[in-house]
Amino acid sequence: MLQKVNVGRWSLDGYDGIAPGEILQELRELARGLSGARIVHVNATPYGGGVSELLRSSVPLLRDLGLSVDWKVMGGSQDFFSATKALHNALQGSPRSLTNAEQAAYVSCVNENAETLDGAYDFVVVHDPQPAGLLSAHGRGDARWVWRCHIDTSEPNPDAWSFLRPFLQGYDAAVFTMAEFVPPDFPVVRVETIAPAIDPLSPKNIDLDRGTASQILDWIGVDLPGRLVTQVSRFDPWKDPLGVIDAYRLVREEIGELQLALVGSMALDDPEGWEIYREVSEASEHDPLINLYTNLTGVGNVEVNAFQRLSEVVVQKSIREGFGLVVSESLWKGTPVVAGYAGGIPMQMPAGTGGRLVASTEECAGAMLELLGNAELAHELGASGQARVREHFLLPRLLRDELRLLTSLL
Ligand code: UDP
Repeated sequence: MLQKVNVGRWSLDGYDGIAPGEILQELRELARGLSGARIVHVNATPYGGGVSELLRSSVPLLRDLGLSVDWKVMGGSQDFFSATKALHNALQGSPRSLTNAEQAAYVSCVNENAETLDGAYDFVVVHDPQPAGLLSAHGRGDARWVWRCHIDTSEPNPDAWSFLRPFLQGYDAAVFTMAEFVPPDFPVVRVETIAPAIDPLSPKNIDLDRGTASQILDWIGVDLPGRLVTQVSRFDPWKDPLGVIDAYRLVREEIGELQLALVGSMALDDPEGWEIYREVSEASEHDPLINLYTNLTGVGNVEVNAFQRLSEVVVQKSIREGFGLVVSESLWKGTPVVAGYAGGIPMQMPAGTGGRLVASTEECAGAMLELLGNAELAHELGASGQARVREHFLLPRLLRDELRLLTSLL
């Protein structure tokens, strides 16, 4: 069944002087026009991964702006989440589609959740494929329905796409991170592109002085002031953690004392995480300078903040990526990023901004060496990335774009 996530309220006033003023002004005006609108956001997990991160920050702000917003999370069995992870991978292009049993698990779980979607809403915003079937199971009622896709569905596995596609018929609008992600023969007429954003006031991104950040990492066991590079991401094959280790090992041939932190969270809707975690542990077990950290041992938002702040370089060696919030999170702290040329990452760090984009392990190692060997360049790239995030990838811009869309659907 759908479970409500309790998150309270949070004032937009705190963003004055941080986010661009004209965006804040337009956001407040749009919110006035939608005052009292009843909105429910539905996704598959209350923690772990970018979508929960976005909702955790968006919902309290929208409430403070006068909208009546709920956040609900799907319930499901292990079979359901295995099926939806297979669906997620297949939509990002993996050759394995869903078995008949997985398709049946999807349909029955979506039906069960739809029965518990009570309350009268003006807008139902459904995030990603896991709850996409809610509309057909529940019926539209008086609400406008929006499907918000956060992943790269530009070249979906055809079988998986023909399974999901009928569930999307009837949505009033769909939102993708990039126009390139819209899959072939897409059944929703109204399509918008809206990039995600980070919350500069969340514990993950709030300003943290270097002394406090060092104390946090020291406590966790990082050897400071030693040299450190980090990748922060779910243990997921698309994030290529094994490729990060390979690239790091090439860099270590030149910089013997360099430490690598792989910080990864386990998400409720991602059963594959454990398997990848095991593979990454095995690949690094005899190397004391490679360390794995997870939310299960208390490495949460503030700790991620400290890692992103004190790493000389943050790596995000994704092969497929929806957006990659971790890139903006790191750039916001002035830390340069070496990242895979995938999905929404180049939009955050276009040529010469924020760091280096790479397409192979060797390029990744080369870019890390370049930045680790030139502190001035690293600083300049970090600063240009921070300016770009301020202009384009802070939460008020995301909320403004979303409220523009909802206003136009009324
Ligand atoms: N994250 C975290 N702890 C971890 C790993 C990831 O808090 O150990 C957060 C990360 O900071 C970011 C989100 O999870 O806010 C991941 O979002 P992203 O868009 O990068 O990738 P996704 O997981 O959605 O594919």
